Amino acid sequence: STWPGVWNNVPAGPPDPILGITERFKADKSPLKINLGVGAYRDGSGKPYVLSAVKKAEEIIRASNPDHEYLPITGLPELTNAATVLAYGANSPHVKNGTISVTQSISGTGALRIGAAFLARFWPRGKVIYLPTPSWGNHQAIFQDAGFEVRQYRYLDSKTIGIDFEGLKSDLLGAEPGSIVLLHACAHNPTGVDPTEAQWRQISDLVKENQLYPFFDMAYQGFASGSTDRDAFAVRHFVSEGHQIALAQSFAKNMGLYGERVGAFSLTVADAEEKARIDSQLKIVIRPMYSNPPLHGARIASTILTNPELYAEWETEVKGMADRIINMRERLYDELTHTHKTPGEWGHIKSQIGMFSYTGLTPPQTSALAEKAHIYMTSFGRISMAGLNNSNIDYFAESVSKAVK
Ligand code: PMP
Repeated sequence: STWPGVWNNVPAGPPDPILGITERFKADKSPLKINLGVGAYRDGSGKPYVLSAVKKAEEIIRASNPDHEYLPITGLPELTNAATVLAYGANSPHVKNGTISVTQSISGTGALRIGAAFLARFWPRGKVIYLPTPSWGNHQAIFQDAGFEVRQYRYLDSKTIGIDFEGLKSDLLGAEPGSIVLLHACAHNPTGVDPTEAQWRQISDLVKENQLYPFFDMAYQGFASGSTDRDAFAVRHFVSEGHQIALAQSFAKNMGLYGERVGAFSLTVADAEEKARIDSQLKIVIRPMYSNPPLHGARIASTILTNPELYAEWETEVKGMADRIINMRERLYDELTHTHKTPGEWGHIKSQIGMFSYTGLTPPQTSALAEKAHIYMTSFGRISMAGLNNSNIDYFAESVSKAVK
């Protein structure tokens, strides 16, 4: 070869902690096995769920005999317009005045990455971002790869498995003014612990007081409460309080379009002139990354969001997914406390929200569950509630109870 040994210095990296769980699950031959690792919705029989609104949108698209031309750099305008209405609300002055710079993105991850690249280039006050502890594991990598210094603010109180609100307040007040703060808009991943509306109002005040710039990650709109409006409370409150914000949106979970990679990144801006400048720079950021985004999923999402009948059906289906998860939380709580008299306090299972629950199970307990009961979750005890259903929840509760006792 021309370059013998040239890659000898490439070290093997660690496997992805979440996707590694699926590999172990697949290798397990037991019929009892349960995968609570990955955050993808499963229906009441444990199967991936294709929304009826999505199937109908695909029929409409197919019937229109579509071409496969390139999208513009910032994507399908019908999608990005509808995405801003969904997030900011139809009555938002920014929506009405057209003072939102928005681009389609490769789902939520791509939205974060575009936002990080844009802010790394143009945010005038340094390159520091504060993430909650804990946060979605990819946040740190995304912002580090874009050149940010990543710092933490306290979020989860591991004793109560609820929010450490005093810690959060003191860390955000102590943060370096001019920094960026990442906020999970709803259904915090991995904890399932969200601030209350009253707490969001306080967070808004102190983000303002300490001159931080809020970057919202909204990967689960509708998935937390079942209402897309209620789940947008934090974003809309901040905007109504006069904050300028950045926002990453994903349609992976709320439309079940995981592999289609549909999302949006947006920024609120002052006026049309500023929007034109920022739009031009978003294009300059995106063009060398991937030129322009994929088309099919964008067509599906925009068809649903702009067709009143499909929109109504979608809202019902989002609520159905959220309600099934909420129902599983109640069942799990009841089985752990009443049926199995499991030691400890399990109220957090019910009060947490969204796809995930932080169970409070420890690494020794989660590895015992994998080895003895064929139940897979992250080592720090995060479970995807969507992986539970009527057929496996009894076995799960019984196994957790044994692991704790
Ligand atoms: N943010 C958070 C908090 C997430 O949990 C996820 C999905 N796991 C994402 C962003 C992005 O997901 P996707 O790129 O699939 O939209």
